[in-house]
Amino acid sequence: MRKIQNIGTKISLSSIGRSGKKQSRKTILVAGGAGFLGSHLCKRLLDEGHTVICADNFQTGRSANVLELTTNSSFSVIRHDVIKPLKLAGPLDEIYNLACAASPPKYQQDPIHTMQTCVNGTLNLLNMARDKGARFFQASTSEVYGDPVVHPQSEGYFGNVNPYGPRSCYDEGKRAAEALCHDFAERYDVTVKVARIFNTYGPQMLADDGRVVSNFIVQALRGEPITIYGSGSQTRSFCYVDDLVDGIVKLIRSDGSVTTPVNLGNPVEFTIRQLAELVIEQTGTGSHLKMCTLPVDDPKQRRPDISKAKQTLNWEPSIMLAEGVRRTTAYFASQLQAEPQAISESA
Ligand code: NAD
Ligand code: UDP
Repeated sequence: MRKIQNIGTKISLSSIGRSGKKQSRKTILVAGGAGFLGSHLCKRLLDEGHTVICADNFQTGRSANVLELTTNSSFSVIRHDVIKPLKLAGPLDEIYNLACAASPPKYQQDPIHTMQTCVNGTLNLLNMARDKGARFFQASTSEVYGDPVVHPQSEGYFGNVNPYGPRSCYDEGKRAAEALCHDFAERYDVTVKVARIFNTYGPQMLADDGRVVSNFIVQALRGEPITIYGSGSQTRSFCYVDDLVDGIVKLIRSDGSVTTPVNLGNPVEFTIRQLAELVIEQTGTGSHLKMCTLPVDDPKQRRPDISKAKQTLNWEPSIMLAEGVRRTTAYFASQLQAEPQAISESA
């Protein structure tokens, strides 16, 4: 893997981005860049011609996710835990904070570290944004709404979070991180953009990630029982990763009128049982449904109101669940062929 290099160079150069428009070349830090969303984001930013530094502690990230990117001389990787301050020489234009395990079984493995990641990690990166004059993106979450009693969830809803339970390290950690973002924007004039991300899936999730889409697809491909927690009547609204990354980039580059959190997600809602049926149909698996215990505090329903993202960012998802599941299944099927152990360790 490439070592960190050339930090702070080339920022006066320009490049042609995906839009075909000439844009200034930026130096960008992606914390959590070796994870599922982070690795897609690093690729997108490199494709736009920017210099990208990925900082990750590899808790749930993988070097394989960014291996292909390391052939690009504008990309570098640092192994770093964001709960400690990160020192980088030279200017930075943008910082994306995606560092934090997102899957409930993963973030609950070491809940105290999860809280530290959310609070100390965000604080350290905000301090860096302040020092460098960089724009700051915070990956917040629909979990700030907890088990919502208002449906669908718009940004004005304050949520229904259990502050004392197994999900609290993540939900409350992310809420505290939002408060820090608010205060750095108000007190120190840092340009902060907060996205509340709703369930996003796609290639480069870990086979053993534990979240529902990867679990169901991997189980179906292996012909194993598909594990439905509870009755399967709980709902989620699933966003494909390419749509989400597009929304993230639009948000960080948005003008000064966007100062408060924005929901990013696909507003089409499914029950978990419907998702299982879709996966079974698409894979043609002989897997049967296995009913399991519902985890504590599992939200019963979730659907984003994305009016604000539509109006302020001109953004809405374009890839619907059937297509996204097809693409994600193709990814896991090729993983299974390439390295069967990566799948057989799963779920
Ligand atoms: P992921 O677990 O695949 O990626 C998280 C990355 O952060 C991993 O590479 C991990 O190693 C790294 N990381 C964790 N703790 C760290 C620390 N202390 N220091 C440095 N690196 C650390 O999860 P993801 O789905 O890619 O999520 C990325 C971000 O988006 C997270 O902050 C998550 O809370 C947020 N988010 C994701 C979703 C989703 O549906 N994917 C929904 C809401 C919010
Ligand atoms: N879920 C499930 N089977 C699994 C994994 C998850 O039924 O193998 C359920 C889980 O209980 C929740 C939903 O699917 O109701 C989404 O879970 P996930 O962990 O993907 O995300 P989150 O709970 O954070 O929305």
